[in-house]
Amino acid sequence: MGKDDVIIVGGGLAGLECGAILSKEGFKVTVLEQSHKSGGFFQSFTRNGYSIDSSVHYVGSLDKGELLYDIFKYLGILENIRLSRMNPLGFDNIHINDEVFPLAMGHEQFCESLSERFPREKNDIKAYTDILKNIGTGTKNTVQSSAGISGEGMNYLSVGAYDEIERLLKNNKLCKVVSGNSIIYGGDRQMTPFYVHAITNNSYLEGSYRFSGGAEQVTKALEGKIAENGGVVRCGARVTKIITIDNKAGGVELEGGEVIVSKYVVSSLHPSLTLNLIDDNNAIRSVFRNRITSLKNSYGLFCLYLIMKEGAFPYLNENHFIFNEGRNTKSNKLPPDNGIIVTMQVPSDGGNSAEVVSLMRPMYFSEVERWSNTKVGNRGEDYLEFKERVSDEMIAIAESRFPGFKSSIASKYSATPLTFRDYLSAPEGSAYGIMKNYNSPLSTLIQPKSKIENLFLSGQSLNLHGVMGVTITALMTCYEILGTDYLSGKIFEKR
Ligand SMILES: Cc1cc2nc3c(=O)[nH]c(=O)nc-3n(C[C@H](O)[C@H](O)[C@H](O)COP(=O)(O)OP(=O)(O)OC[C@H]3O[C@@H](n4cnc5c(N)ncnc54)[C@H](O)[C@@H]3O)c2cc1C
Repeated sequence: MGKDDVIIVGGGLAGLECGAILSKEGFKVTVLEQSHKSGGFFQSFTRNGYSIDSSVHYVGSLDKGELLYDIFKYLGILENIRLSRMNPLGFDNIHINDEVFPLAMGHEQFCESLSERFPREKNDIKAYTDILKNIGTGTKNTVQSSAGISGEGMNYLSVGAYDEIERLLKNNKLCKVVSGNSIIYGGDRQMTPFYVHAITNNSYLEGSYRFSGGAEQVTKALEGKIAENGGVVRCGARVTKIITIDNKAGGVELEGGEVIVSKYVVSSLHPSLTLNLIDDNNAIRSVFRNRITSLKNSYGLFCLYLIMKEGAFPYLNENHFIFNEGRNTKSNKLPPDNGIIVTMQVPSDGGNSAEVVSLMRPMYFSEVERWSNTKVGNRGEDYLEFKERVSDEMIAIAESRFPGFKSSIASKYSATPLTFRDYLSAPEGSAYGIMKNYNSPLSTLIQPKSKIENLFLSGQSLNLHGVMGVTITALMTCYEILGTDYLSGKIFEKR
């Protein structure tokens, strides 16, 4: 039985960031991760000698002075990660039928280049861009003082993304263009607040980067910092119980029965998983429990990872979102069915040929539910056939825009929501956790301070998903433990 200051449950981005911050500030930290390696959605795997990023492919707000830059600088990991700036003239490219619309980096450039394609909508585009910028600036300022959502952000939390886009931009095609990358935030017409659309897009406008040498550098760098600060990241350590005594957290129990006592427990898991771990059923009111477990999770993603033949296909320093037919604007999904993302990893040899390409498309759990009682590697022939069929459809969409794509593929691997469910315990393989809902915005915002003393929450389901959202959430969690003024002063150099 050990005694720590802080036990962190879950070694994904949120858990590692909380671990790095708290250990830097002098806490004795142990991060407990159930898998054989840390990183959660952020991890990579190796096939045929290539390191393949399972999920994270690009990050925003990493230009000097932007939010993520400041926080990574404080964590001391900027020098450990090699970044590659994406194409400033079009980091995301939206393909609608035969047309391609690049989204340029930087607010002015974004506005100008889009206005060239939609000259009559110039004023509307400017107004739209200004709102994105205001929401981003508001968030940046708020994060420095409380890490909650800014007043501006709160206003847009109760407004539907697509309703607001249509109100601001009017032109139907232009609306499709600016919402064309909505798969990156699990866009859903019935639920997604404009705030989520705005904050995600604004962050990419503020400097989009890929990881040169793989996304896993970030989690490795965070692990390194935790170790440097005297903390520990233990993999293969599945937490089965959060121990509470008199409504106060006191440690955890691991699979196998080991107990670790600690003053604080931070759980970075999906909130419904955290609730299941709490040993005292009476500690959490059933109203809260019911509220959390009834919240809807985002859809999952089908990921097709492709290793390309050497020198066969050019490396594209930008993402492509391809929709081959007129969209049904009444669809629940933003984007609609049969749209895919084509994204690439920076070639390991620094060359101009693509090595690893990922194709992704939204996938609801219902599409794989019939195999929900099966385990990784043993799901049966029909599951393999299903994956093959979906993969072929996605490759055909990519081929339609990039002739020669299909024949450039050397080998392929795929993951469905079941893969993420089974490796990471993500409920129903959801890609981004609990969805924000503009119809009842406050019900989907979960605070990092729990009703149980010394038990704190973190992770993508609280505030926002993605590297930036999760980093802000980790900060909110650590503000609760260390004090907002103290920590924000250290990060944002007010002192
Ligand atoms: C396919 C895909 C592509 C994405 N692309 C991007 C992108 O390009 N850019 C971007 O910014 N974001 C992207 N995201 C989102 C981003 O990956 C996530 O928002 C973020 O990584 C979530 O981090 P987290 O720590 O909250 O959760 P997780 O990564 O899920 O971490 C939770 C960890 O807890 C562990 N765990 C669960 N139960 C237990 C237990 N009982 N005991 C111990 N450990 C446990 C899990 O194994 C996991 O490691 C993508 C997501 C997906 C699915």
